[in-house]
Amino acid sequence: MKAFQYATALSTDSARELAAGHGAYIAGGNDLIGLLKDYLVPAPDLLVNIKSLPGLNQIQSGDKTWTIGALVTVGEIERSAEIAKVFPGLRDAAMEIASPQIRNVATVGGNLAQHSRCWYFRQRDVPCMKKGGDLCYARNSENRYHSLFAGTDCISPVVSSLATTFAALDATAIVLRDGKETRMNMAALYQKAFTDTLAHNSLNPGDLILKVEIPTARNRSVYLQASDKHTFDWALVSCAAAAGVVGGKLSQPRVALGSISPVPHQVEAANQFLDGKTLDDATASQAADMILAGAKPLEFNGYKVPMAHALIRRALLKLKG
Ligand SMILES: Cc1cc2nc3c(=O)[nH]c(=O)nc-3n(C[C@H](O)[C@H](O)[C@H](O)COP(=O)(O)OP(=O)(O)OC[C@H]3O[C@@H](n4cnc5c(N)ncnc54)[C@H](O)[C@@H]3O)c2cc1C
Repeated sequence: MKAFQYATALSTDSARELAAGHGAYIAGGNDLIGLLKDYLVPAPDLLVNIKSLPGLNQIQSGDKTWTIGALVTVGEIERSAEIAKVFPGLRDAAMEIASPQIRNVATVGGNLAQHSRCWYFRQRDVPCMKKGGDLCYARNSENRYHSLFAGTDCISPVVSSLATTFAALDATAIVLRDGKETRMNMAALYQKAFTDTLAHNSLNPGDLILKVEIPTARNRSVYLQASDKHTFDWALVSCAAAAGVVGGKLSQPRVALGSISPVPHQVEAANQFLDGKTLDDATASQAADMILAGAKPLEFNGYKVPMAHALIRRALLKLKG
């Protein structure tokens, strides 16, 4: 591991100044330290500890919007009785992440900005597209964990469980960019990963996620995932659904899937189709068809299509209560 300096930032401005050039933010360090040890990202000269930034470790409730600071840990989300009541899907997503030890230090900002888990990307001697090479090794070989939808030859999917749930809840990340606060919904936060093989998300160097705002319009939310292991593993496919449910009818429903595309996969036509509907098996199944239309399975990840279909149906039926 290359030697680096370490500094603790006490304000967002100083964090940005310190990170400018060859610095990198470190929060819980779960992802970043592994990337550095394996030489998977350019070694920074300076690690900027952002855990002391004031005000970013709070969960704030509101009538119309809740705010979750970027330094709130996944464990704090998991243990919050208020979140369990207002955004049960978010609590369930947090509970599925890694292990209690990791959840206790992993932050919301770091979870959203975590890098690809593609095993070719994570193998330092493989010069894959995500590292600037010419080839996506997964495309024609071991692609069982990879995307069904992709905008480029790179088929590495987004794996942040929080991103999937935030997408269904129509949450917005507030990002400090060039000294100004920029708002990005989850589609925008990952869009660049869909079009640029090198990108893991749409953040520019120095961009700092400050918080995530979640509207309270959807009183019910659900998160389900299928994984190889019950714990300490990423999802093969994850599905989050959220809606206002009154008298059994859905309003402003949204469904998002993780681990099948470089962005949380959402289909607006399916959300519109579900709006105002009372859910039954046939309706949930029709929505799942719409959401998965256009999926392009590869040699080893075809199982994700029926798995995603089942998760969407189950999540929607669970949503109605
Ligand atoms: C065995 C295992 C299983 C896992 N399973 C899951 C899973 O099922 N679902 C899931 O979502 N995750 C899973 N994870 C990943 C884990 O949740 C993430 O590594 C963790 O959330 C990263 O958060 P952190 O605070 O430690 O980030 P760090 O490692 O500190 O940072 C990660 C990246 O984000 C950047 N960063 C950090 N904070 C900010 C910020 N505020 N603004 C901008 N950039 C920032 C850093 O520079 C770095 O590039 C798993 C991890 C392990 C080891």
